[in-house]
Amino acid sequence: MQTLRKVKIVATIGPSSESYENLEKLIRAGMNVARLNFSHGTHEQHKKVIHNIRDISKKLHVEVAILQDLQGPKVRVGKFEGGKAELVAGETVVVTTKDILGNSKLIPTDVKTLPADVKIGSRILINDGLLELKVLSTNQKDEITAEVVYGGKISDRKGINVPDVRLSLDCMTTKDIKDLEFGLEHNVDYIALSFVRTANDIISLRQRIHDFGKTTKIISKIEMLEAIQNLTNIVRASDAVMVARGDLATEVGQSLLPGLQKKIIKEANYWKRPVITATQMLESMVDNPLPTRAEVTDVANAVLDGTDAIMLSAETASGKYPEKCIQTMSEIALAVEADQLGFYKFNDNKKWNFISESIAESACVTAKKLDASAIICLSTTGKTATFISSFRPKSPVISVTHVEEGLTSLQLAWGVYTLRIPQYQTGEQAMEFVEAQLLKYEIVKPGEKLIVTLGMPIASRAKTNALRVHVVRDLDNTNSKDEFVPFRFQKK
Ligand code: PGA
Ligand code: MN
Repeated sequence: MQTLRKVKIVATIGPSSESYENLEKLIRAGMNVARLNFSHGTHEQHKKVIHNIRDISKKLHVEVAILQDLQGPKVRVGKFEGGKAELVAGETVVVTTKDILGNSKLIPTDVKTLPADVKIGSRILINDGLLELKVLSTNQKDEITAEVVYGGKISDRKGINVPDVRLSLDCMTTKDIKDLEFGLEHNVDYIALSFVRTANDIISLRQRIHDFGKTTKIISKIEMLEAIQNLTNIVRASDAVMVARGDLATEVGQSLLPGLQKKIIKEANYWKRPVITATQMLESMVDNPLPTRAEVTDVANAVLDGTDAIMLSAETASGKYPEKCIQTMSEIALAVEADQLGFYKFNDNKKWNFISESIAESACVTAKKLDASAIICLSTTGKTATFISSFRPKSPVISVTHVEEGLTSLQLAWGVYTLRIPQYQTGEQAMEFVEAQLLKYEIVKPGEKLIVTLGMPIASRAKTNALRVHVVRDLDNTNSKDEFVPFRFQKK
């Protein structure tokens, strides 16, 4: 028997992880979703990574989804003489929109509207709030004069937040539109939009994706106060959300972050949208092979909060121990999950909107009462698996499909794994295939029970409407111990 990790791992790809060998290491260590951060890197680089991931995926028979993260209207400083400068507390500096190199007195930015948007007294936070300026005056055109409140090192392209001000920026910049087209052309599985403020930001992105002839899933990054105010509508308009703690903490004030993380996760759980908890989860592992106790606890708490996925940023993109970070996250998640099994959420009073929803819940009840080894969803789109995931059953969920979208779009969902199957005519035929695969990978043993959801009649591709219990037979299985197991299982 193997134990399946329920929480998924998203890892950001960068210089430390982008080679073929390193990507393979991350996939073998358990990366479920690869995040390509379009705030960095060229299209050529991203193209190579996408190609390599698809290649390794095929080789190892494991589905890895690709998440394209669009930069959005992020305000950034420009470049500095020699790449960096030091700001000194108490000094007066000028923020300029002119295209020049900066120094310790002069900070360039390419956001032309900034001088018109800020007010006297507004805070300008740089590098996730490590540096702070206070606006003394603005010419409303191209120059802001400010006092350095907290000084320190500043370097090329660091981010700026102006939490006191509503910036007049579109959610999609010209760069985002070009990047989006690139992503869609290369069939990314998810598109994450930064600095979402309203549900309309998502609706217009969906229209763009639709106009391109695609149905790519959208992740809203919750990282602005305005997004918190519009949370329900944003969650409902999105396919998934991200608690983007880096910018969120800077925008709302860090002390509100822990509460907001719980609130966003709760809202996403309620609407059955996968949610990713992101940023600085194992930050100290950028340089060290071990995390701090606080980081271990942070990862565990996100799992306990009910997150579907946990994310690594600099840890895997530019850190020293990318593979170790994934192993560490995996171990923490497995330990927490082992401790709180049987936390299936049953709500006796809730009526169902869909037949598949009722089958999904019945599958969880039956799995629990029979102590089933897995819940198998014979499906196309993966919708039923998403419903089952939302009940957080103890049994792992394996969605079996031959539809590409059904395979990749489930990689963020808590506890759901996918199995690619050739076209089949009958439920028996499908189960024979599933059984053989699960036996081969030692996920089940003869005599164990599988709960199966399916749509009957199979031939007419009916939606999920049936539940079966299948007892695993003693097939003449070809045990392949050295083969890579295409699920994130660990020996018990
Ligand atoms: P970023 O988003 O890394 O693209 O800024 C995540 C965050 O803000 O936490
Ligand atoms: Mn961000």
